Amino acid sequence: MTRTLAVAALLLTATGCGSGPAVARSQWFTMGTVAAIQAQSMEEAKKGRELIQPLFERVNTLFSTWQETSELSRLNQAAGKNELTPLSPEVATLVAAALQIAEASDGAFNPLAGSLMSFWGFTQERAPSALSSEEALQEARKLADWHRIQFYPTSTPVRLYLPHPGMKLDLGAIAKGYAVDLAYNTLTQVGTTNALIDLGGNLRAIGEASPGRGGWRTGIRNPFVDGSCTAQFLMTNGEAVATSGNYERFVEIANKRYGHIMDVRTGRPVTGMAGVTVVAPSAMLADALSTTLFVLGPEAGVAFLKHYPGCEAIWIPDNPEKLTLLCTPGIAKRLTPIGQKQFISRVISAKDNNARWSEAE
Ligand code: AMP
Ligand code: MG
Repeated sequence: MTRTLAVAALLLTATGCGSGPAVARSQWFTMGTVAAIQAQSMEEAKKGRELIQPLFERVNTLFSTWQETSELSRLNQAAGKNELTPLSPEVATLVAAALQIAEASDGAFNPLAGSLMSFWGFTQERAPSALSSEEALQEARKLADWHRIQFYPTSTPVRLYLPHPGMKLDLGAIAKGYAVDLAYNTLTQVGTTNALIDLGGNLRAIGEASPGRGGWRTGIRNPFVDGSCTAQFLMTNGEAVATSGNYERFVEIANKRYGHIMDVRTGRPVTGMAGVTVVAPSAMLADALSTTLFVLGPEAGVAFLKHYPGCEAIWIPDNPEKLTLLCTPGIAKRLTPIGQKQFISRVISAKDNNARWSEAE
């Protein structure tokens, strides 16, 4: 069975939805996806790209699970070898952030999902031709116990050890957002006033697309129709948006498609969800939360979000017959449908801490 890998790179860009006046855009391939910067002129876009392209490259050399020499790969190679590995400040920062979200989400976000990514064939050239045994699945699941990561954030340098061979850190759910924040900080420090940074659907806005627009118009992808968007909203200065989708990366095993986001509680890829978009004050948080909320789903997700003020989410259940956007109230009022009203929109909000939610048209 051949492996099918789809990278939906132009998911969420103002131009991707084909509305509004054109803005200048410079794009390139990095970190296994498309990076882009939009600005009010091509000259500004190119200037911005010169600054941020090396940042993305550096993040890739730290966090890539494909490069054997990346810092993350070296940590994984040391698993079970009784060596406390010193971490660069960037890796230490991201591991600390990932562990915090793992704790807060009770493991829905799991930085040790790497063993399951390998089990399901995401780290090999070809996916397995048949599913392995339930026993092998449970072995891979046990290796994803993030509580067992030995992390020493107060030592100098910060150190980490994975105590069992086969344990694999995978920060793919948070590293792109982190890279976008680095780019955002660099651009704002040099005085950039208008730009939209995009790294494979992880966005952060500076200023506006053109004078008087008030921000950057951004589309919510329709997960069931390639290259089409179903709704849009205006991202304002400093805001970040991230999307996690089952269409972004998947494998086919014995003619069945499996998405790339793992529910480590079962050891299996999450089913039932097509896409989750999060708006947050930083791209790292948007990235981490979109993956977490994809695993949690809307009911548990909306209660979990109460701990993250300023963050909003949209869930699109995996039902192509009935495109439905389940939106938290803050984003529901900012969305406008693209074209005809082709989707059903419901507003959901947590009633109390017991993860109940109310529904309103
Ligand atoms: P994203 O596209 O940001 O949702 O990140 C998905 C990527 O994060 C996957 O391709 C894996 O590398 C990794 N991953 C998969 N499942 C999880 C999980 N439950 N928690 C954290 N990272 C995960
Ligand atoms: Mg993510």
